[in-house]
Amino acid sequence: MKIFDTMQRRKVELETVEPGKVSMYVCGPTVYNLIHIGNARPMIVFDAFRRYLEYKGYDVNYVSNFTDVDDKIIKAANEEGVDSSVISERYIKECKKDMADLNVKEATTHPKATEEIDGMISMISTLVDKGFAYVADDGTVYFNVEADKDYGKLSHKNMDEMMSGLRDLKVTGEEQKRNVNDFVLWKPKKEGEPSWPSPWCDGRPGWHIECSVMSKKYLGETIDIHAGGEDLIFPHHENEIAQSECTSGKTFSKYWMHNGFLNINGLKMSKSLGNFFTVRDITAQYDPMVLRLFILSAQYRQPLNFSKEIMDQSKASYERILNCTDKLYALEKTAAGEEMTEDELNAKAQVEGFIKAFEEAMEDDNNTANASTAVYEIVRIANSTANENTTKAFLTYIHGVIKTLCDGVLGVISDRKAEALDSEIEALIEERTAAKKAKNYARADEIRAQLLQMGIILEDTREGVKWKRA
Ligand code: AMP
Ligand code: ZN
Repeated sequence: MKIFDTMQRRKVELETVEPGKVSMYVCGPTVYNLIHIGNARPMIVFDAFRRYLEYKGYDVNYVSNFTDVDDKIIKAANEEGVDSSVISERYIKECKKDMADLNVKEATTHPKATEEIDGMISMISTLVDKGFAYVADDGTVYFNVEADKDYGKLSHKNMDEMMSGLRDLKVTGEEQKRNVNDFVLWKPKKEGEPSWPSPWCDGRPGWHIECSVMSKKYLGETIDIHAGGEDLIFPHHENEIAQSECTSGKTFSKYWMHNGFLNINGLKMSKSLGNFFTVRDITAQYDPMVLRLFILSAQYRQPLNFSKEIMDQSKASYERILNCTDKLYALEKTAAGEEMTEDELNAKAQVEGFIKAFEEAMEDDNNTANASTAVYEIVRIANSTANENTTKAFLTYIHGVIKTLCDGVLGVISDRKAEALDSEIEALIEERTAAKKAKNYARADEIRAQLLQMGIILEDTREGVKWKRA
């Protein structure tokens, strides 16, 4: 299986620390308001990748954090006049709801920064002891990038280049720093901010240290894959590497995967630009699975432009999948035949070809775009071959393939509707029977028309109402 590694700047073969196991850390959101669909991109693309690894039989230990102490959270808390934990707990809950709606699997561990302060103090102490960090007069602890000869290796930044862009530290109010790229590990508390005691001052951690600590605690000193959006390459991930490797002396992560941006009119969707839609905005208009399919319609490293047109295309694609599984579900109920016919065996051979194409796409750097195309081909074969004469053996086979690839790997649920549909149809038929009894023929006709729109044909027989799919 090949993945593009940001550090090596090329596609490489995935070779995990322990055979058959993958440890993976995906940087999660800062929780101060509802997540937007750009934030949902890393969640969805790396969830699909994780699901594929599991489909291949890997045991995946998947960790994704919540940043629950941060300037923006504190600002939001002060504006509402509440404790910052009220804000972070509220938006962790909302984020988990969005993730569940988008069928993102629960992480093995979902740590929160505020619950890992001891580990951060311990790592910062080690960095100070080893000479990789220094304490300023006011108790701020900085990482000293000059002490780390590897600093810049992920983002391929050259220290000399970085120094040439040197800003006057006096102008930026950072004259305590030795180097403009030195970054905060611990900072003193300000009035009205959450704080913890530490050997340096009462205060709170910098942002980068939390991921180094949580990754080490839940996955070990060397993990297989560290992932996030490409805006995290510098400085966040560069700084995580510096902290972790200077602490342990070992490689922090074997591979680095970064997703491209979700754009709108060619600009990165972001809270600061205000050009965003929350997941809630979109799921008020579309099934969450349409959003998921839209995000997976591009290879994860490519920029993806959000537009109504492409969302509508994803909606049409999703409906094609649903209609197909509805049809298979209905046909399977009455089908017979344990052995496939020759035509069916030919169709099965074609399907196998597309399963191979699906796997090749996923193994070529998580190419969900090509993998989805392979699923559409299987759906096309299912639609063109399945009818009243199809054997149960073939229907079960092809339905199983669609469920495995679509629901299982891509995580785009294709059967929810089918199961809900029967009870919905039965309920409408009951209502129509009642309307007829009450001589409300207008309502009865209305229901018949509504069912017809859903592709259901009613037949009034002596034994009662029967229905079939058009
Ligand atoms: P944040 O809450 O801003 O730290 O972002 C959480 C995650 O979402 C990070 O992995 C970011 O890189 C990612 N992210 C933020 N905006 C976008 C975007 N427009 N497109 C893709 N990923 C994004
Ligand atoms: Zn992180």
